[in-house]
Amino acid sequence: MTTCKTKIHNIFKPIVARITSSKYNLNFITDTAYIREDGQFTFGHSILLTSKTSPQKTSKPVAYDIDNDFFKNASDGDIIQITPDGIISVLWEKRLNPHDFTLFITHQCNANCIMCPQPPKKDEYSLMDTNKKILKYLSKEPIKMIGITGGEPTLKKNDLLELTSLAYKYYPSADINLLTNGKKLSDFNYAKELALSNPNITFCVSFPSDNMDDSNEIMRTHIYVDVLKAIQNLAILRQKIELRIVILKQNYKRLLEIAQFIYRNFPFIYHIAFMGMEVTGYAFDNIDDINIEPSLYNDRLLSAVQFLHQRDMHVSVYNIPFCLVDKRMWKFVKNSISKWKQSYNLECNLCSKKSICSGIFTTTKINNFKLQPILESRFMFIIL
Ligand code: SF4
Repeated sequence: MTTCKTKIHNIFKPIVARITSSKYNLNFITDTAYIREDGQFTFGHSILLTSKTSPQKTSKPVAYDIDNDFFKNASDGDIIQITPDGIISVLWEKRLNPHDFTLFITHQCNANCIMCPQPPKKDEYSLMDTNKKILKYLSKEPIKMIGITGGEPTLKKNDLLELTSLAYKYYPSADINLLTNGKKLSDFNYAKELALSNPNITFCVSFPSDNMDDSNEIMRTHIYVDVLKAIQNLAILRQKIELRIVILKQNYKRLLEIAQFIYRNFPFIYHIAFMGMEVTGYAFDNIDDINIEPSLYNDRLLSAVQFLHQRDMHVSVYNIPFCLVDKRMWKFVKNSISKWKQSYNLECNLCSKKSICSGIFTTTKINNFKLQPILESRFMFIIL
C-alpha cells in the first residue's frame, strides 16, 4: 500500500473516498476526494486534496501541501484512506491493479512469526467500514481476485464472514485468496461457515516446516497441531488449499522433506508456493538469524520443486527473481509481488526477463542481491 504524510484540516476520523478530478459529485453513494492542485472546493465531494501550502477557509475536510509525487501517480477512480494523523494510504490503484484488490481485516495476530513483514499490533479503529466501502465502490470494476490478509484475518470471525459473503454478492466469480496461519480453522464449524460464505476461497496457509520443532521456532507459537487439523478440516470441506513456505535459515535444509511430507500427507493440496522473504518488520529485525542466500538453497529448492512437479502437484516459486534461481526452475517462477511493491536495480534494464520478473520488494530494507541480467537475444532465431 503506497502511503504519504500530509497536512490536514477538519479530519477527525478516517475518510475513505474515490479520487476524482470532476468538479461535481452527484453520486451520493460514493464518497469522493476531489483532487485539485490549486485547492478550490466544489459541490458534492467529501474531501479536497491539494498541493497548496495552506487550506482555503472551509468547514469541510482538506488534505493540503501534498507531495507532487502523489499528484503524479494518483488517477481518477483510485481509492484512498486519510486518517487523522495525516497519512494518506492508497488502497486501490486503478492503473496498477485493475483486476484485484486487498482487504486488510486486522493488525492483530495469534502467531508471532520470526520473518513477519508486518508485525502484529493493536487495531486503533475497526477496519470494517473501510473494507465495506472498498467492496462497494469497486463493484462495477472488472475484479478477478480479492486478497484477504492481516494480521491474522480469522481472528475477526464476524467481520471476516460478513466480508467474504459480501465479496460473493458483489463479485460472484472473483477468486478470494485468504492468507491465514490456520490456527482458528482447526475449529471445524468455523472452517465450514467460511467455506459456505463464499465458494471461491483459496485458503493460503503458512506452512513453514514439516516438523513441530522448526515450526514452533519460526512461528514463535505452538500452533503446529492446530494447523494440521485445519488442513484436514479444509480437505473434508473440499476447499482449495495453498501451502506457503517462506525459505529461511531454519527450514532451507529440509525443503525436500517438507515437499515429501506434503505429498504423502496432503496429496489434495491445490498449490504449494516456496517463497522469498520480504525483508521488513520482524524479518529485518531478525535478518542475521533467518536470512539465507538463494545460492545456498538453490539445489535443495530445485529438488523440492521437481519432487512435487513429478508427482503432478501444482508448485510455484514466489518472490524470487529469475536470475537468483537455477534455470531449471524458471517455469515455476511467478511474478508474485504486488505491482506497487516491485522494484528493479539499474542492471535489470538489460535483462530479457524484466517484463515477467517480480524484481525485488521496494519494502525490502536490504539490497545486496547479486542480480545478473539475463541476456537472451530477441534476434537469436535470425542469427541461427
Ligand atoms: S536482473 Fe532484474 S529483471 Fe532480470 S531476473 Fe534479475 S531481478 Fe529480474
